[in-house]
Amino acid sequence: MYQWIGALYAQYRRSKQTRLFDPFSDILTEKTRKRLMDGWPGVFRHVILELMPVDAVSKQFDPAMGRPTKELYSMAGLLLIKEFMNWTKAEALDAYSFNINIHYALNLEPVAHDLSMRSLERYINLFEDNDIARIVMSEVTAELVKLLDIKIDKQRLDSTHIFSDMASFGRTRLMGVAVKRFLTQLRRHDERSYKELGEAMINRYAPGVGRLFADTKDDNSRIVLRQTIAEDMYCLLKLFAARPQHSSRSTYKALERIFYDHCEVHEKAIVVKEYSGCNSMLNTSDPDATYDGHKGPGYQVQIAETCNSENPAQLITSAIAQTAVESDTTAFPTVMDDLKESELLPDAMLADTSYCSDDNVQLAQDHGVELIGPAPKSGTTRSQDNDKLNIDDFDIDENTEKVLCCPAGHKPLSSVNSKSSGKTKTVMPQSVCGRCDFVNECPVRKNGSEYILRHNAKQRRNARRRREENTDGFRQQYRMRSGIESTNSGLKRRTGLGRLRVRGRPAVFNAIYLKIAGWNILRAAACAKMRKIVRARVRQTVCRLNFVFLAMIMAAKKVRISGKKYFCPSWRQIETFSAIDNAA
Ligand code: SF4
Repeated sequence: MYQWIGALYAQYRRSKQTRLFDPFSDILTEKTRKRLMDGWPGVFRHVILELMPVDAVSKQFDPAMGRPTKELYSMAGLLLIKEFMNWTKAEALDAYSFNINIHYALNLEPVAHDLSMRSLERYINLFEDNDIARIVMSEVTAELVKLLDIKIDKQRLDSTHIFSDMASFGRTRLMGVAVKRFLTQLRRHDERSYKELGEAMINRYAPGVGRLFADTKDDNSRIVLRQTIAEDMYCLLKLFAARPQHSSRSTYKALERIFYDHCEVHEKAIVVKEYSGCNSMLNTSDPDATYDGHKGPGYQVQIAETCNSENPAQLITSAIAQTAVESDTTAFPTVMDDLKESELLPDAMLADTSYCSDDNVQLAQDHGVELIGPAPKSGTTRSQDNDKLNIDDFDIDENTEKVLCCPAGHKPLSSVNSKSSGKTKTVMPQSVCGRCDFVNECPVRKNGSEYILRHNAKQRRNARRRREENTDGFRQQYRMRSGIESTNSGLKRRTGLGRLRVRGRPAVFNAIYLKIAGWNILRAAACAKMRKIVRARVRQTVCRLNFVFLAMIMAAKKVRISGKKYFCPSWRQIETFSAIDNAA
């Protein structure tokens, strides 16, 4: 009997990490308990906390000497909450120590808790080094989609720009800062070599980063200065290339990368390039950040979100963090793979022009997804009038790409498809085209005595898509796409996704995934359906507690131990179970 009760109790504690007596019962009123249960803390405690990937975290600890599992759950939960609440580390520590919301959400005792900055940073590093945030994002999303029965058949896709916590430098300042940081390291580790560089160079980079080259005002003096810095950089690179104690330092590598990003060496002459690529380093403190020509330096995230109007909440199903230079077109296959892996592929995906290249439409089809969006326009197609005849008006066999007949119903003299180039050359009879009323708007071109149409499968498909874009059916279907813009701005406003508190790829990606997971939690918490789920889970917990408690009383009676004597300190809490039940 006692073994059975002990096993039951142990199993219960393992599965839900809940105390036999609810520690919040003396602190919360029925009203405040209801507020916590109905808000995100309730969802976090009763739905999300058990999803924290403690296995991935615990692998990093010694199995014998490691911390208890409960702490791993609460620490992983704290890191997730910290990101979606956009807290600093100090704010997260305060919340963990004193905030009853957080104690409730993390299933902690409602008393002050000690947590050092060092411990918090250790867990953050662990998350960043092991890509754990991504696991959290996918686990949380999958569970919320399942619980809320979210329809994933229609989704929309977009990207949004993210600034990391780095200063934005112009080229001259960037090159100067790279030299300054290398010289700082050099002085620290090899003062003799530093002094041998000469006073002119040392003095040039002596001011602090904020005041470096502050007296250079006009364009001409800036060009001269930039040339001087480029020559200093090349001189330093050559001087220390063969000295591994210096050339293996990150400051040397940054100096080298920035030099070749911005300068070229032509027959011993150093030339500063007119333009540097978008992939060049933008700040030595965030070497991974790249540049987007329209949006600026930093990172971006590809976001796919459900958009079925029957859903109680629209959730983000996929997030792919990238640096800013990546194009939306090339990101599409990665999004499809991610959705496939999480088994959240939609039937239809709405996206803007940058995603909807013909290659991506074909790739989506291979995944059983219809990619809906405007076909990209370029060159001649940009000015093309959709009311004029185009390749879509010809009757073409889609398997062979051969033209069967023209818009006026005439058969071609020949239509030959080249397997190697994929192009089809169709020759129309001069006798019909020469006298045709549509010859000026028809895509056939007169070449000598022949009327020729050249096309490939891609042009045919794009022509068809452009026609469809002008229909009411397409507009009606496509109008749901714009809703993702409000998700992007909501993410930035609510979770601070627009400008992060961190820099460097691991930290930035970690923050992005946790903020997006948090966004899904906040959205789910706003649904009536989720509130019902949380209340049901609380009721279930109360029933289990009552059952275990009664079983213990029965066992105590059997050995003639006074239940009151042994359980009296918490006897009063039996009464509170019914209050919890009522609140639930
Ligand atoms: S111009 Fe020639 S190919 Fe074009 S519609 Fe007229 S007959 Fe047909």
